[in-house]
Amino acid sequence: MRYYVSRMPKDRRRSRGQGRFACDNCDRRYHQMKNLRRHMINECGKQPTHQCTFCPYRATYKSYLQVHMMKHARSGFTPRTASVRQQRSS
Ligand SMILES: [Zn+2]
Ligand SMILES: [Zn+2]
Repeated sequence: MRYYVSRMPKDRRRSRGQGRFACDNCDRRYHQMKNLRRHMINECGKQPTHQCTFCPYRATYKSYLQVHMMKHARSGFTPRTASVRQQRSS
């Protein structure tokens, strides 16, 4: 049995764009340990519960969904299935 994990190797080569802290369960990477922890506690392995009403997108956080919905609003996305018609008597 070998346990040589006491000392962190000095790895100066930092790959750009990818965090050093990788999740064990998925492919997510984070630059900061706290973000990885937050991911593992709150996100990883959990089903995103906030369903977009316009598309199959689901968000883990409600704030994420709100950002996503903004994209719909900006792109002028008109929902086909949702019968959200604003009645305007112009
Ligand atoms: Zn993960
Ligand atoms: Zn959507």
